[in-house]
Amino acid sequence: MKLLVNFSRGKGRKPIIAQAVRDTGVLITVERAVIDSSEGEALIDVPDDQCRLVRDKMTSLGADVRILEHGITFNESECVDCGACISICPRDVFSFDDEFRLRLAEERCILCGKCVDACPHDALTMPL
Ligand code: SF4
Ligand code: SF4
Repeated sequence: MKLLVNFSRGKGRKPIIAQAVRDTGVLITVERAVIDSSEGEALIDVPDDQCRLVRDKMTSLGADVRILEHGITFNESECVDCGACISICPRDVFSFDDEFRLRLAEERCILCGKCVDACPHDALTMPL
């Protein structure tokens, strides 16, 4: 299960992800992160049965945590099978089947948004 974590990095703040790993014992995979001197956003992956434990721990440490139930949203009726998303996706989420129809391996998605910008038919959107 993927969690989107937003946190501030003000003076005296402890490293939230490291502290959550230590306190919960859950191994956390960081899928992507954007962090500067004052704040950060990280997309993390944790085992499904432990995501609420990690979420509650991070929330208690001052982070804003969203559980993401799904990867990128695909509107098949708008897709023209152009393949632009296949070439730009860093996680090989997209592929063509034997009939050159687009298929998704949604569980690989790290919600980077690159395919949304690349799609010429607005067939891809970020989940709310
Ligand atoms: S959001 Fe990023 S990782 Fe997810 S399908 Fe699009 S390009 Fe691939
Ligand atoms: S870029 Fe958009 S229209 Fe092209 S194959 Fe991907 S989802 Fe379909």
